[in-house]
Amino acid sequence: MSKPSPAHRPTGTTASPQPAPGPSPAVMPTYARQDLVFERGEGAWLYTVGGTRYLDFASGVAVNALGHCHPRLIAALDDQSRKLWHTSNLYRVAGQEKLAERLVATTFADRVFFCNSGAEACEGAIKAARRYHFVSGQPERWRIITFKGAFHGRTLATLAAGGNEKYLEGFGHPADGFDQIAFGDHAALEAAITSATAAIMIEPVQGEGGVRSVPDQCLRGLRELCDRHGLLLILDEVQSGVGRTGRLFAHEWAGIEPDIVAVAKGIGGGFPLGAVLATEAAAKGMTAGTHGSTFGGNPLATAVGNAVLDVVLEPGFLEGVVSKSLQLKQGLEGLKDQFNGVVEDVRGRGLLMGLKLAPHVPAAELVRAASANEHLLLVGAGDNVVRVLPPLVVEDAEISDALTRLARVLGGFAKSKS
Ligand SMILES: *Cc1c(COP(=O)(O)O)cnc(C)c1O
Repeated sequence: MSKPSPAHRPTGTTASPQPAPGPSPAVMPTYARQDLVFERGEGAWLYTVGGTRYLDFASGVAVNALGHCHPRLIAALDDQSRKLWHTSNLYRVAGQEKLAERLVATTFADRVFFCNSGAEACEGAIKAARRYHFVSGQPERWRIITFKGAFHGRTLATLAAGGNEKYLEGFGHPADGFDQIAFGDHAALEAAITSATAAIMIEPVQGEGGVRSVPDQCLRGLRELCDRHGLLLILDEVQSGVGRTGRLFAHEWAGIEPDIVAVAKGIGGGFPLGAVLATEAAAKGMTAGTHGSTFGGNPLATAVGNAVLDVVLEPGFLEGVVSKSLQLKQGLEGLKDQFNGVVEDVRGRGLLMGLKLAPHVPAAELVRAASANEHLLLVGAGDNVVRVLPPLVVEDAEISDALTRLARVLGGFAKSKS
């Protein structure tokens, strides 16, 4: 078990300004990373150590809602960092109470629980739904119906909820309590509901699964179905929330009120923050001692979360997202027409868009080509889809710029591969 002396990197604490070529073996190699190291960012732009700039239409996977280094977020973090970082939830946290009250005032929710990530928000949502039935005298109702292609995180329960076999492999029996059905199969959904079902859990727009939107009338149908069977409707808005689709939350487009919503990614604008939003009824089981998080909603995180809401809730901000998204969508539709052998479909809502690519163009290859040849950052997704996720503060000229770069990338695949 003796450890060989590290050959790859010098030891010691002195930071070297230039990162060594290739990823450090000291970091567990769980990601297929691009060999890029960014040093700073501004708005929709990222700069490498060498000063090369990249147009960021990945936004840290829909996290940097306000782009990089937004002055309001810097000010909030800087100000809070000089006062108080962390006290734990043994005490009241002023920023947390303020953020919760604002989320309650602007959404369906009456209660908010804070955590640090999307998976934790989904776990909290699952726990709240199970506790709801438990305290309602129906402890046997603890199973959750989920959908193929879903992604709810990488913890053991959320992996089982997502049901992706590739992600579950090698981690033992998947956690029990999830019944997965095909996306859009209404008959299978009705048939899956039993006396043990507690809730239906769904992303209004599947992100990782390939940017598949649930039509508004289907969300309304799910609401009715849940009401008819006494089930809770859990929405995973970790990716679609906080303005990403042009509404504060994507379900608002359908005009429905869910029972529980999982939130993360954009709410912290880059600071790790997650939240479980719930109605008073759905939260009724979450009493003292039932759930917790040491870091959840700490003063630093909630100071930033409040600053994100300051900007996103400013009059006109979400309307701006809608108009930018129309420009982006039109441009992407144009690219689909122009490169119809490469792009099969344009999907998504707001600034959560996806291009479904032809089978001979693997999404991962297109993401790499966009980055390497055009310095345009995109994100891969399931179902051979490339996600286009600019920050919500992206400017019209930057959308045009990205579309021009993307056209050249697609052109390369049209010529060389078809
Ligand atoms: C990213 C994501 C998660 C998981 O979030 P983490 O912060 O990575 O744990 C869960 N659900 C959806 C819809 C997501 O997009």
